[in-house]
Amino acid sequence: MVQADKRGGVAFRYDDNQPLAKWRAMAEVFDKYGYPMSLALIATGDNAFNAETLAFLKEEAAKGHELMDHTPAHSAFFFSCPDAQKYTNEPWVDHIRGNKVYCKYKMREDAPPSIRHITFKAKVQGNHIDLPDEVKKFYWPGSNHVIINGKAYILMGRSENEFILEDFWSEPIDMGDLGEVECQTANKSFDFYAELGALKEMARLVQEHRKKLGLPPATAWIQPGSRVAIVQADNVRDAYAEFGYVSAATYQNSAALTFCEPNPERCAYAMMWGQINLERTPSLEELKKAVADAVATHRVLIASSHIRTNAFPNGLDGYVRLHDELLKWCKEKGVMVKTQSEWARLLYFTKTDPQENVFPLLTVDLNEDGNPDGFERIEGVTCANGTFSRQGRGKLFQTLPLGGVEHGKNTLKLDIEGGKPCVNIYFWNRGRKLGMETIKGTEGFFEVPQETVTVVIELINEQEAPMTFRGGSLHQ
Ligand SMILES: [Zn+2]
Repeated sequence: MVQADKRGGVAFRYDDNQPLAKWRAMAEVFDKYGYPMSLALIATGDNAFNAETLAFLKEEAAKGHELMDHTPAHSAFFFSCPDAQKYTNEPWVDHIRGNKVYCKYKMREDAPPSIRHITFKAKVQGNHIDLPDEVKKFYWPGSNHVIINGKAYILMGRSENEFILEDFWSEPIDMGDLGEVECQTANKSFDFYAELGALKEMARLVQEHRKKLGLPPATAWIQPGSRVAIVQADNVRDAYAEFGYVSAATYQNSAALTFCEPNPERCAYAMMWGQINLERTPSLEELKKAVADAVATHRVLIASSHIRTNAFPNGLDGYVRLHDELLKWCKEKGVMVKTQSEWARLLYFTKTDPQENVFPLLTVDLNEDGNPDGFERIEGVTCANGTFSRQGRGKLFQTLPLGGVEHGKNTLKLDIEGGKPCVNIYFWNRGRKLGMETIKGTEGFFEVPQETVTVVIELINEQEAPMTFRGGSLHQ
């Protein structure tokens, strides 16, 4: 196990099988800077890719780009295969139609208490359901299921007043005339588990397919989005780890993508994307700031995309140009760009050095906006030559949420001149504040709770006398 320094960085992930021209354009810009990208492939059958595309994928994989697994048929609950009938007696099979295998699902008993389950009575006929107003208000497109007689159905609003049901796998159904029945709402994101047997078979099929095509095995699994239910990180890990997968992207309770995160063996399979998005044409300056702050605070950003270029007036050219500018800047500034699996190994499977200083350096301003990376901009504070100074009482600095902080006893030292320092340290687990410590002075020890994901540090001058801050250190 190699030791990781706790530098953050970026991964670029592109989902779904794209036209070869788009993939080629992206590969060109990444290859120009020697950076890898991560493609999430949907692979079914021998004809998944034509000869030209397959040759391209082999070439790109050899250069270090990652080919991730986006499931055989863009779902964790079904897949197609030419000899589907051979699965008839598998315990995880719900039914088979033609060459499509529909897998069983399980209702979760440990869904978070915040998920509301409304019980109601409704008339069901054909695929129509008459919802009471209470449930209509609750409806959210693409995320609701209804449980009827122990089975889950996808609920779809056709208009404000017309609602229909699809079966669990998003196929049309005819329920007949059920009359008024007992129903309960369920949430596609929280209420379901896939059968391990089904997920394992899909993992096996994908790896077998890769081998047959001469592509490297998949090591990252990407949850497909659709109306069909999605699965949980532990569900994916339990099925995929034994097939060599070290990472996955799942939605619920996503990892913060930082070093020293609690429960790393789960986090590796909950590496959701979307911390930056180049599809919505944010400015280059915004992207640089996000990346600079992530590097300074030991976090990783996963750029999300389906290579949708319609927001750019000049389409793919404009989209590629934005990537070119951002990657060029990353290269100049030494920003690490890695694949999803590379980041998973580094963040969650590599030993960290508890002595490494994780306090952001005041001398680093990668995006050159005049504010050191990893710090909030504070009104009334002058920032020059690697120092913060303030004329009187008030806040001198506040860090952005810092990742990479070791749990247990830590030492904080601050180089402060003048004033009367009060240092507050806040411990966070995503949206939950776990506690805080206060140090009156320039140095102190404190205990970082085991559940801590990020730490925020602020320095306040409690006197009218001017104060200057020249930097700090934080480690075990
Ligand atoms: Zn997809």
